[in-house]
Amino acid sequence: MSGVDVLILGGGIVGSSIAWALAARGVSGIRVVDLDLAGVYASSELNAGGARATWWQPVNIESCLQTLEFFRANNEEFGFRETGYLWLYDDETLFAQALRKRELQNRFGLEVEALDVAEIPERMPLIDRSLDELVGATFSPRDGLLNPNAVRGWYRKHAEALGVEFWNHHFVAGVETVRSAGSAGLVRRVDAVSVLELSHGRGGIDEYALRDILTTHNVPPESAPTACRIECATVVNCLGAWSPIFSAKVGVADVTEPVRRQISLVDVHAEDCAPGVELDSLGMIVDASGLYLHAEGAHILAGYSTPGEVSGYDFGYDGQAFFESELWPRLAHRASSFERCGHVRGWAGLYAVTPDCSGIADRVEGFANLFEAHSFTGRGVMQSYAVGQSMASLIATGRYEGVDLSPLNRSRFGDRAKWVEEELHI
Ligand SMILES: Cc1cc2nc3c(=O)[nH]c(=O)nc-3n(C[C@H](O)[C@H](O)[C@H](O)COP(=O)(O)OP(=O)(O)OC[C@H]3O[C@@H](n4cnc5c(N)ncnc54)[C@H](O)[C@@H]3O)c2cc1C
Repeated sequence: MSGVDVLILGGGIVGSSIAWALAARGVSGIRVVDLDLAGVYASSELNAGGARATWWQPVNIESCLQTLEFFRANNEEFGFRETGYLWLYDDETLFAQALRKRELQNRFGLEVEALDVAEIPERMPLIDRSLDELVGATFSPRDGLLNPNAVRGWYRKHAEALGVEFWNHHFVAGVETVRSAGSAGLVRRVDAVSVLELSHGRGGIDEYALRDILTTHNVPPESAPTACRIECATVVNCLGAWSPIFSAKVGVADVTEPVRRQISLVDVHAEDCAPGVELDSLGMIVDASGLYLHAEGAHILAGYSTPGEVSGYDFGYDGQAFFESELWPRLAHRASSFERCGHVRGWAGLYAVTPDCSGIADRVEGFANLFEAHSFTGRGVMQSYAVGQSMASLIATGRYEGVDLSPLNRSRFGDRAKWVEEELHI
């Protein structure tokens, strides 16, 4: 049996940020447990690297704004480039809605511009096809792109320097809670199993074994896992798309659904680019069709959320078929430079989706010492700093300092008027 003051379940970008923020406040005895800190299947590893504050709800705008400030202040370490987001619209109603949201966004100083159709190719020479279908665009110059792994690594490195323990290769398997009549429940201990036996020579776990555990939520008994009980004063559920599995163990019916999202790297030959098109300097472009893209090293990174994707722990990447059916037609439809582009490789990761497409953060109702911060859909990287700071203040002092995350309390799902509704997008 080993004891800690704060046990953080999940060492993705959110758990790591909270761990660092707590340690920076002088909290000691913090341990982070994760099945795979390398994050082979973690959303923090598999995302698109976009960071914007141009959302629809004040709590999301504020937390992204604060996080982007932090990225800007460390731009070299995080590879943060303030290249902007360009959104194209082919629907009058959606464009009018975007212009209304722009008023709110600009009250937060985001300087979002509205472009008419003629201005689109002037601003972005890449967009040279099917312009007559478009009704307008918005451009948000303060948004940008970054390397999320560098950010997660930064949180971890600084947390470790302040004494936080990161336990790798530990699977959270169970939890013991107590509740006496009339008082809030308490998490007494968390049961983890060490899966070190599944690791190969270089210290990582075999990818297939890892995928099995993360899709079945069980460690196979033949791998002879070693059980370990962790006594803890405070527990924080930061298990991302896996958070509902833990919630169920403490009797909280979760609303989060894991949904597969696919991304491809696309090869574009410089000689195919239309005059004036320079791929290196592209920011994020979000096409009216739902496809998004940005430059990624020598390639283009492009993603698309297939409608009707069934929820589940599915990491299957559809490869060339995904590129040919979903990406290439949309890319070539909008830009002649992409006519001959080719599929390089890609991957699938999980969005943790809630009914209103906003994250869940707060103390878990009915428990005195259980907190949660997860389900940030496509926003976890760009909210990570603010969520870390605000959750650390809540855990350490009992109240929010900085961004008030209380609108993200899960009790909102019981009252539609309190939903923090966002459009599900990157
Ligand atoms: C394709 C795609 C594109 C995205 N694009 C963007 C973007 O451009 N910008 C942005 O801000 N966000 C984006 N996101 C969302 C973002 O990546 C996530 O919101 C964020 O990474 C969530 O971080 P997290 O720490 O909550 O979860 P994760 O990074 O998933 O971490 C959860 C951790 O829990 C561990 N774990 C799970 N179960 C157990 C268990 N039982 N025991 C022990 N450990 C366990 C996992 O190993 C994992 O390390 C994207 C996501 C995807 C999938």
